[in-house]
Amino acid sequence: MGSFEVTILGASGGPDGGATQCFMVRPMGCRGLRSICVDGGAGFGEISQILARSKDSCKSELLESFYANDFEPAGQFFDDKASISVGFPQCMIGSLEHALEKQNTFTKAMEIYMGVKEYYITHAHLDHIGAMVLNSPLACDANNEDGKLIYALPFTLQAIEKHIFNDVIWPDLLHCGSNRLKLSRLTDGIPHVCTVFPQWDIIPFKVHHGFSASIVDKRVYSTVYLFSDRTTKQALLVCGDLEPDSASDGEPLLEKAWEYIAKRVTRGNLRGIIIECSSSASTPKHELYGHMSPAYLVGQLSRLREMYGDPNALAGLNVLVTHVKTIISEKDPRLVILQELREAALQERLDVRFSMAVQGYTFSF
Ligand SMILES: [Zn+2]
Ligand SMILES: [Zn+2]
Repeated sequence: MGSFEVTILGASGGPDGGATQCFMVRPMGCRGLRSICVDGGAGFGEISQILARSKDSCKSELLESFYANDFEPAGQFFDDKASISVGFPQCMIGSLEHALEKQNTFTKAMEIYMGVKEYYITHAHLDHIGAMVLNSPLACDANNEDGKLIYALPFTLQAIEKHIFNDVIWPDLLHCGSNRLKLSRLTDGIPHVCTVFPQWDIIPFKVHHGFSASIVDKRVYSTVYLFSDRTTKQALLVCGDLEPDSASDGEPLLEKAWEYIAKRVTRGNLRGIIIECSSSASTPKHELYGHMSPAYLVGQLSRLREMYGDPNALAGLNVLVTHVKTIISEKDPRLVILQELREAALQERLDVRFSMAVQGYTFSF
């Protein structure tokens, strides 16, 4: 039995707009509507779509692709052994239907949105905060009793405060007196006790995410979050955008996260890794712009295994791949990347299970 349920509200890495990265994370089997989200690239609109779509079980067996076929059978995107369900977790929908049997989709979606009590933001790029910002007037609504907290490392909080909620790009709802939308600072490598689900420690690690597009040698950073359940001792790693330390000759940052996990999470208790792989193997390194490729991702998983000092340390680990960039090509790049990852892992004798994070599905870890 796992510990975590993750509903994918958005998994695209852009550059087309829409459902970009946002993962709703809850303890397995948790009743009620309370949740937290890692990143805010999707929100109220996507919650509504997911609710409406999951009513029609036929449609949910096909996924939007818009490449070789407009719709592809869902099965190709997931590992055979991954634990997956369509829509929001049943225990969540159960609480919703009990309270709101005759309500329409928007009313139900608002209940779920109001249940998001905390955001954990990896970095301030728009594809990771867009919907959170656009939805923020709803969060500040007087009917929303306890509002929302936005957690992040200082570099991300500063960017959100200075460049987004500044009364120019978006109204400054952080300082408008409603007190319903607040920033809260985390510390690199230090466990934070989650207030929504107090059995969880959430540990942020700063990681590299390439360089500034305009200023030479100015580094860009992002965050990965380790969820650690103190009761079950199980853990889940949820990443935003990132690259290996070596990709930009950077100081060891991701290396420190792997070290922490190998030291503190007992083999087998690491239930899953949600991590980006934005581009396929055919992309030249200088066009990755601070992101992962299949070779980088498999390399980093091998590094984690090495740190455990056990060739079977990651056997059967579920790796959920996100943030694939939309490109103009024949085949769906998500299917291309999945195949490349599986082949690269086979070569490294890395026995992990890759699935693609697809909007509207719940994965159990
Ligand atoms: Zn991104
Ligand atoms: Zn980014």
